[in-house]
Amino acid sequence: MSVVIAIPEMGNDLFRKYMKSKYTAALRRAGAEYKWIDLSDPSAAAKEACACDGLLLPGGSDVEPSLYGQERTEKCGAPNMLRDNAEPLMLRAFLKTEKPVLAICRGLQVMNVALGGTLYQDIKDRQQAKHSDFLRRGRTTHSISIEQDSLLYSIVKSAETAVNSLHHQAIAVPANTVRVTANSGDGFIEAVELKDYGFCLGVQWHPEHMSKHSASQQNIFNCFANECKKGK
Ligand code: MN
Repeated sequence: MSVVIAIPEMGNDLFRKYMKSKYTAALRRAGAEYKWIDLSDPSAAAKEACACDGLLLPGGSDVEPSLYGQERTEKCGAPNMLRDNAEPLMLRAFLKTEKPVLAICRGLQVMNVALGGTLYQDIKDRQQAKHSDFLRRGRTTHSISIEQDSLLYSIVKSAETAVNSLHHQAIAVPANTVRVTANSGDGFIEAVELKDYGFCLGVQWHPEHMSKHSASQQNIFNCFANECKKGK
């Protein structure tokens, strides 16, 4: 039986349709179906997500800084209040079901903020590696080191791998309930996992743009879908 993955609605302009197609193609290759969740009523959205077998928090705009107790700085991008209002609520409700969660880029940042952590509003002055290559989304720009006893290591099967990068923000203080399981060479958090939970993985890069040609990146979606199947 196929599993259905809940994904918060990202929008339907041409650019977002293209970005959405990368997630859905990766999920289809993993044998999973998906359901875009309308976010206009956050509590209804949370309920609808909880009825699905897994939750995927996708990439998108910068998280509203007031959600992690900061004033907006000039380098922080415009928020998407529809997503900022609904996604933390959806995630916290979904975690009570103990079903699998995969959080990508903004998704990892939403996960950290929803659980009490903070973000750097802009990393450009701090970074040494290239963390944003907008036009070459599928190309690797920097390497990451992966903790060997982590969920991510069991998926990627390597202590070091190269990833693409499309972010200008990063986790500053990780939430108490998350464990950092990958870092970039210049010290940014590239993956987190929820402690004492089955499958809840956040990655700062975009495996959906690499997974068509990278077996290890596609394996993130495959393992996520397989965990969702186990819960059925
Ligand atoms: Mn990066």
